[in-house]
Amino acid sequence: MHNFEYREGELYCEQVPVSRIAKEVGTPCYIYSHATLIRHFRAYDSAFKNIPHVIAFAMKANSNLAILRLMAKEGSGVDIVSGGELFRALKAGVPPSKIVFAGVGKNAEEIRDALNADILMFNVESSAEIRAINDVAAAAGKKARVALRINPDIDPKTHPYISTGLKKSKFGIAADRALEEFTLASSLGHIEVVGVHAHIGSQLTEVTPFVESLKKVLKLVEALKAQGINIRYLNIGGGLGITYSDEKPPLPQDLADAVSPLVQGLNLTLVMEPGRVIVGNAGILVTKALYEKVGEAKRFIIVDAAMNDLIRPSLYSAYHEIRPVSESLLQRPKHVVDVVGPVCESGDFLAKDRTLPEVKPGDLLAVMSAGAYGFVMASNYNSRPRVPEVLVKEGEVHVIRARETYEDLVKGETVPAFLG
Ligand SMILES: *Cc1c(COP(=O)(O)O)cnc(C)c1O
Repeated sequence: MHNFEYREGELYCEQVPVSRIAKEVGTPCYIYSHATLIRHFRAYDSAFKNIPHVIAFAMKANSNLAILRLMAKEGSGVDIVSGGELFRALKAGVPPSKIVFAGVGKNAEEIRDALNADILMFNVESSAEIRAINDVAAAAGKKARVALRINPDIDPKTHPYISTGLKKSKFGIAADRALEEFTLASSLGHIEVVGVHAHIGSQLTEVTPFVESLKKVLKLVEALKAQGINIRYLNIGGGLGITYSDEKPPLPQDLADAVSPLVQGLNLTLVMEPGRVIVGNAGILVTKALYEKVGEAKRFIIVDAAMNDLIRPSLYSAYHEIRPVSESLLQRPKHVVDVVGPVCESGDFLAKDRTLPEVKPGDLLAVMSAGAYGFVMASNYNSRPRVPEVLVKEGEVHVIRARETYEDLVKGETVPAFLG
């Protein structure tokens, strides 16, 4: 469900025509709907209302300060994966008591900063990392709350690049070594073991892998209890999928219905880290057609957005629906086309072999479902300034990130004196 709909032949975001925003801020641009963001967060939050829980929005999906502030105001925490994300979260006003820190390669500085901020906990991914956190905490005279991330060896049945809970994955601690690692962790003077964490992958379209993973984790919680290690937090990660094309992913309520009976009465606080399901369908990337090119074997629509603006198609072969901003285009003859950008790479495409109506230079297209892993993965490749982000709230348009300038492109670069 989202708030990008045609009204009288024009694509709108809430009460505002997308074409008006494109005119005001130029193309390409990302547009997010405030109402959709709020609705998605509340759907997740209220689905779990009968269980003590913390929602830690996985901010790597979309880390704009305005989005983070909006989430924080709704009562969300965040799942961070770097010192930079900690900085953003604190700047946006996310309470440290709702920040959890994941990632396989936290460095000493990031650990120290997170300890100083007094975040809720670290999600620890290896025994070497437990020791490192213990050392940093000792030096700071603090005790670090940690959850160990377990790799439950569950196939989430998603794209291999976004599958994280299999044995061969770099993430987490193997389930059969977990007891040993927990014992080590709880023997360390500056570590307080408070939780178990499992995040098995992204864009999951079934509930079963979550349930299987949770069952494994709960067995471990039992075993830990027998050893006198009392787990208070159960982190079931994120990963709930969204509809990009014709997927029918479970709703947050379906997940809650499957999870609740398993954790009811266990005296555990659930931590959840949804990312994509909150922001994915709350954002679009608007782009302008530059040229149509009829090649010998293929037809191309060349647009002003490229892989540096939205890399998911190139990186994951991800599907994003492409809609004309003006519905009248749908009357035109249709062709099977590749939608490609100006970047000098064959891998630069937004869609392949897609049936779309003919476009003329200047026609606007909306790349749907671009709110998650969209702008955050943008780069300056080909010296392309990163595009603006806009938040629409009812009839209001707020630029929440300005388009970069050419000067921004060279910020921090210096030519040494010897080069004259
Ligand atoms: C990426 C990630 C998430 C969020 O995944 P989504 O599929 O966007 O919900 C949650 N937790 C961890 C540890 C992650 O790495």
